[in-house]
Amino acid sequence: MSDRRVAVVVEDDEDIRGLLEAVLQQSGFDVHSTDSGVSGVVLVESHRPDLVTLDLGLPDIDGFETARRIRMISDAHIVMLTARTDEIDTVLGLEAGADEYVTKPFRPRELRARVDAIMRRRTGPGASEKQAPAVEVVESDPGVPVAGDSVRMLNGLLLNSSTYTVEVDGQAKTVTPTEFILLDTLLGSKGHIRTKSDLVRRLRDETNDSGTFVSVSDERSVEVHLGNLRRKLGDSASEPRWIETVRGVGYRSAARR
Ligand code: CA
Repeated sequence: MSDRRVAVVVEDDEDIRGLLEAVLQQSGFDVHSTDSGVSGVVLVESHRPDLVTLDLGLPDIDGFETARRIRMISDAHIVMLTARTDEIDTVLGLEAGADEYVTKPFRPRELRARVDAIMRRRTGPGASEKQAPAVEVVESDPGVPVAGDSVRMLNGLLLNSSTYTVEVDGQAKTVTPTEFILLDTLLGSKGHIRTKSDLVRRLRDETNDSGTFVSVSDERSVEVHLGNLRRKLGDSASEPRWIETVRGVGYRSAARR
């Protein structure tokens, strides 16, 4: 497994495509790009990227449909680019499987910082191909470094940060990297409440007290990701087995049963 990072750019505007290619190459990616949704899915299938940037308005199928098709074959981090900032777009995109949004126009330096943050926090499936050390069960707070594999368990759910896998009652569940980080953060907080802002900052790879701006739509993104996660795990918001909503505040892991 090569350490080389791979990105796929799906963008029909030639200038923006060139800019995205340049930014990603500077961040150390091998970049493959295309101007349509269908060929973007083909590129993802053949190049197995770590990261995909996806324009919303494409000449054939739109970015939502493209994200849906990519999600069926890949767990790449999907960044959706849109000129529209309506919340409805954000929600649709996240439900289609995108991990985050960047609105156009964007500054190359900001995009680069964001991409670097994504790759820092992402331990892609490639990590699981390394020789796995013996499994060690830890119950630590997130952020505390732990040697070897770390596994979290709660009410029949098992989350392994080294193999990047989630199992419910012995059955593997497929979650996106963003969902994985949220679940890991909540389970690692052992019943302590994490506010939506905390979770937004965790996804940005920042500390809770960084004081950076968190918008309503950032918080809404966290809600949507957690909604998707609950659906995939088969959890219920009203009778939570793993993720409990603390109304008006945030979330915490459910009590052990
Ligand atoms: Ca476009």
